[in-house]
This record gives sequence, structure tokens and C-alpha cells, in this order.
Amino acid sequence: MVDKKKCENCGAPLEGFLFNTVGKLFGIKQSETNEKICNKCEEDSKKEDSTTKVADESNEETSEEDTESEQQTLANEKVEEKVDNDGKED
Ligand SMILES: [Zn+2]
Repeated sequence: MVDKKKCENCGAPLEGFLFNTVGKLFGIKQSETNEKICNKCEEDSKKEDSTTKVADESNEETSEEDTESEQQTLANEKVEEKVDNDGKED
């Protein structure tokens, strides 16, 4: 198993078959200043000052809420099952 190099930020391939096909198609290549990320993310990080910070925070809030309510639903279902089983045993 060989770990192909890919962008740490967006996961875009920076090496191998996918890089030679998909990467070239989208103009993605390894950043010249940071070999762990692609040139697209390098450009993004240059722009990233105050504008992207606000967007990131609102994104996190939304996904957190989604996960929480999903987990709560699962937990409720489990509790109901347990109560049901206990009742039969008694
Ligand atoms: Zn990237």
C-alpha cells in the first residue's frame, strides 16, 4: 500500500494517477511554498484574512447542530428499545 501524496487541506491528489488526470483537468498541482497543500489552497490561504474566518465559523455551527440532533434521535431510539425489553422481562 502506497500513500499517494494529496493536499492536506482539500484532499486533492498531488501525485499518481488521479493527479495526472483529475488534478490536471482542474489545474491542481502541488504548491511551490507548501508541499503539503495544492496551489488552489495556497491561493485560498493567501486570500484568507477576515472574510473566510466568518464563513468558517458559521459552517461549523451548522454542522454541529446537525450532528447533535442526529445523535439525539439515535439515543432516543435506543432508550425506547431498552425500556421495551425491560418491560417484557419483568
Ligand atoms: Zn488543496
